[in-house]
Amino acid sequence: MKMAAPLFRFFGKVSRQLTPPWVSSRPLIRHISSPAAGFPPLQTYTEEEAMMRDSVKKYAEERIAPFVSKMDENSGYKGITCFIVDRDTEGLHIGKKENKLGLRASSTCALAFDNVKVSEKNVLGEVGQGYKYAIGMLNEGRIGIAAQMLGLAQGCFDHTVPYTKQRVQFGKRIFDFQAMQHQISHVATQLEAARLLTYNAARLREAGRPFIKEACMAKYFSSEVATLTTSKCIEWMGGVGFTKDYPIEKYYRDCKIGTIYEGTTNIQLSTIAKYIGQEYDS
Ligand SMILES: Cc1cc2nc3c(=O)[nH]c(=O)nc-3n(C[C@H](O)[C@H](O)[C@H](O)COP(=O)(O)OP(=O)(O)OC[C@H]3O[C@@H](n4cnc5c(N)ncnc54)[C@H](O)[C@@H]3O)c2cc1C
Repeated sequence: MKMAAPLFRFFGKVSRQLTPPWVSSRPLIRHISSPAAGFPPLQTYTEEEAMMRDSVKKYAEERIAPFVSKMDENSGYKGITCFIVDRDTEGLHIGKKENKLGLRASSTCALAFDNVKVSEKNVLGEVGQGYKYAIGMLNEGRIGIAAQMLGLAQGCFDHTVPYTKQRVQFGKRIFDFQAMQHQISHVATQLEAARLLTYNAARLREAGRPFIKEACMAKYFSSEVATLTTSKCIEWMGGVGFTKDYPIEKYYRDCKIGTIYEGTTNIQLSTIAKYIGQEYDS
């Protein structure tokens, strides 16, 4: 799905180039932000747009392999072009489905390109613009990952707090122990801060204002908060939190990827520092 953003943007061109049933589809030019799991979408869609979005997602997952390749070694980032090919293209090898810690409902496979031949019809967008598309995808995608991690953490919290209000130990609900309340309040505050960072980055992006530093901050912070929240929720549930009878352990496994994909936490921090450095250039 992460690769779907440039597909949306260039869908009109792709639809003309590859598979006939798509020719009649209306090009979808404006950016669509994807609703994260357990989290309200940042914008709404018409029925037609929603159908288009789902179709493009299916198309992206099942039919094609978008990739970025350097055509001209001497032109730096301007020598990079984005291509899109059908999945049965000669020389394209789709690796085994990875056996992952989390996100097990989504398949992750390595793609190998062995002398894949491409022509003009496979160019996604414009020649020489591949770096711009890929970086643009990553920059925007980070807001999506921030929202994904926030939704995941909020869902985990929402599953756990009611349990603490039912479970009685030492003659009290465990929610009523002050030590528990302080931890719950701390995590709730972190969640709220992650929400505001994420909304702020999305707001800036939608307003066409600079948003890269804020997107990195949102992604970095939300993924750290998701790690904290899911870990704490397991502890608050006690032993049953560690079992598969409750969904908490799944949240704990699923959130770990947030600190890795779309740029690791270290990469977010380096990018944030780069922008801070520029802001203080005299
Ligand atoms: C489930 C899943 C889905 C994925 N989906 C996609 C996808 O759709 N498209 C795609 O292109 N990729 C995808 N990836 C790959 C993912 O983006 C990379 O794994 C991620 O960017 C980290 O790169 P790496 O694995 O090479 O780690 P490495 O770069 O080897 O990093 C290892 C460690 O070194 C640190 N490190 C590396 N370089 C620096 C540096 N310069 N400064 C400080 N620390 C550094 C990292 O922060 C990390 O802690 C996916 C991965 C997974 C697990």
